[in-house]
Amino acid sequence: MRLILYAILGFAIYYLLRGLSKGAPKTPPPSQNHPSEKGKELKMDPVCGTYIPEDTPYRVNYKGKTNYFCSEKCMKIFQKKIEEEKK
Ligand SMILES: [Zn+2]
Repeated sequence: MRLILYAILGFAIYYLLRGLSKGAPKTPPPSQNHPSEKGKELKMDPVCGTYIPEDTPYRVNYKGKTNYFCSEKCMKIFQKKIEEEKK
């Protein structure tokens, strides 16, 4: 009788361990596959080439495209360039 209990217990542990190793995800969680996760996307500053988060207050819409800047200084340089292009 005891042997059967041990056998059942052994099988239970075996299946549990097998289930755990099988259940371990081989693919990384989806959050790591999506660099475009909300608020975390990085945009390149077209003036100095620095990458800044999308939620920067320094942005300029130009020709239907939003340009992001690391600082007011870069933003102003860009705006000046736009003005010169218009002339
Ligand atoms: Zn910049």
